[in-house]
Parts: sequence; C-alpha cells; structure tokens
Amino acid sequence: MSYKLDLAAAGRFLADNDHFLVVNHVNPDGDATGSLLAVGHMLKSLGKNFTLANEGPTPEKFKFIPLSEAIIDLSEQKLDRTFDRVIALDCGDFQRIGAVADYFSEGFKLLNIDHHPTNDSFGSANLVRTDACATAEILYDLMKDMQISLHKDLATSIYMGLLTDTGGFRYSNTTAEVLHKAADLLNYEVSPGEVAERCLETITVSYLRLLREVLPTLTMDFNNRAAYLTITLEAMEASQANREDMEGIVNYARNIEGVEVGVLFKQVDSDIVKVSMRSNRTVDVAAIAKELGGGGHAKASGCTVKGSLTEVTEVVREKLKQAWGNEQ
Ligand code: 5GP
Ligand code: MN
Repeated sequence: MSYKLDLAAAGRFLADNDHFLVVNHVNPDGDATGSLLAVGHMLKSLGKNFTLANEGPTPEKFKFIPLSEAIIDLSEQKLDRTFDRVIALDCGDFQRIGAVADYFSEGFKLLNIDHHPTNDSFGSANLVRTDACATAEILYDLMKDMQISLHKDLATSIYMGLLTDTGGFRYSNTTAEVLHKAADLLNYEVSPGEVAERCLETITVSYLRLLREVLPTLTMDFNNRAAYLTITLEAMEASQANREDMEGIVNYARNIEGVEVGVLFKQVDSDIVKVSMRSNRTVDVAAIAKELGGGGHAKASGCTVKGSLTEVTEVVREKLKQAWGNEQ
C-alpha cells in the first residue's frame, strides 16, 4: 500500500474508533514521548477517550509538555480495564511495547506507527515510513492529512520528536522536508531554545560521574575502525546514575575521528548486556542488532544479549568482522 493510503487508513482508525490505549516503546526516548503526547493531543482534538501508558517511567526531562502528567507508568499504577483499540508508536516490533501488552483485550486491533527499517508490520494497520527522521514526523503528516489544527502543545510534542531523533537537526536523517516541518511548527509558539535545553543540553551530575567511570574503558579495535565503551554494574553503582544518564554516551565512541562503528556495552545484570551501536558510514548496525534479537536504524541500533561482558563483546566483534569481510 502506498503511504497516502496508509495515512488515510490510519486516519480512519482514529476517527472511527474510541477508547484508545496509546503506547510507545520501553525506555522511551524523546521521539517516543513526543509521539505519545502528539497522539494524545490529536485524540483530544477529535474528542476521543484515550489512555497513555508505558511499562516504566517517562524521563523527567521530556515531561514539560501538557498531557505528560497523564502518562501512566505501569510500574507505579495498574490499569483498571483492557483495551481493544491500541496505537503503538515508535515500536519496531511487538516486544518493544513491553508490559503494556498485558492490557490488550482478546481480538484487539492495533495501529502501528513507526519509522524503523526493522519494523515487521505487527499491527492490524501499519503506518510505517522508514525514511522519516522520527515517528513524530509521520504524525505531522497524519495531523495534516486529518486536517487537525496545530496548537502550541501538539506542535511542541512533534517538534521534540523531530529534534531529538535528528540529534538536534544534525544527523543525516535531517532532510529539507524535516526542516520545513520544523519551521512550520515554530509558527505555533514552540520555544526551540527551551526544548533543546531540556532535551539535549542539560546534563546531570550523575551523568558526569558516570562518564568519568566509562571513559577509561575505551577500547579501539579493527585498526581503530571500531571503538567500545563499557558500563559495568559497579560503574552504575559508583556513579549513582540512572538509565537516562546513559543516553548519548555511545556517541563518545562513535564520534572519534576515523571510527566507523561505536559500541556501548551496558551490563544490565551479571549475564545480560544491552548493546547500543552507532555507525558513521557503511556498516548497517540495524542488521547486526536484528541478528542479535534487537533492531533499529542503519546508523543507530540496539539489542540485549545474554552473556558476560566479555562474551557479548566477542559476539559483537564477530558480527563486525563479518561486516568488514574478515579484514584484519
Ligand atoms: P539505543 O542504543 O539508543 O537504545 O537505541 C538505538 C536505536 O535502536 C533506537 O532506534 C531504538 O529504538 C533501537 N533499539 C534499541 N534497542 C532495541 C531492541 O532491543 N529492539 C529493537 N527492535 N530496537 C532497539
Ligand atoms: Mn524514533
């Protein structure tokens, strides 16, 4: 189906139904949160009833937009009903929804709105545009297609998704179209300085303490084409850092001159490692992540692998070796 038809089908899903459960992915980022809020504001404009939920907490830094107070954190609060109309945002596959799926009624219908190339079209309706910089960009298209009026809160929600998933309009997914959309949103009282400061600029003391633990772990591999950083359980404990503090640390590995792939190995448990991969050039790290049970984009991907830090590092090294055709 063409994107235009998919937009129309998604519009009908919103217009023809009511009492939606709207979810984004576990450990939500700025695009996931902005998209959740944007859909909330769109449903509000349409006069619909909806519940916004995630299996865990939404990072505080993204909670400055009205409606964020309504996002239910299932680790704190249970839902008192199940839902047969679900909208999943920024989720590449069903697993990314996490524990919110416990509240889907039997025979539920799910609208899947996402931009990950690894998306497996798990919805009853799928609005997936893999060349969109963010899920929020697709919601901009949907909002226009449904002729929903923009206002400050909706515009700020979408803007937050565009800004964060393009790394502040710097990554290669920043197209002319993205900038035109961002420019349009600025006509609706979005404060670009405030959004950037909250989402991208502000760092915490625990983030800096964590960085101090992590930087000495830097290891170069494959003739300096790969760089690895590691966060051990001890480093998390010593720095009193939280999950939010880890975001962006992988970029220190990726941004080193000459490095093509930066990898962050984060010990989640003694035998579970979360791997974050970033690619500068030709290596498709989404393909590697997918082979290891995860997914993402060609230049930014992630997966969670069972094993010790040493074992998981070796698993990823093997994949990189294959990607570089057994060089070195
Ligand atoms: P990060 O490394 O920052 O957690 O994630 C980078 C990208 O990979 C994001 O687009 C994120 O959605 C995706 N990603 C990270 N972990 C997973 C995973 O376990 N499964 C899937 N499908 N995608 C992931
Ligand atoms: Mn996204």
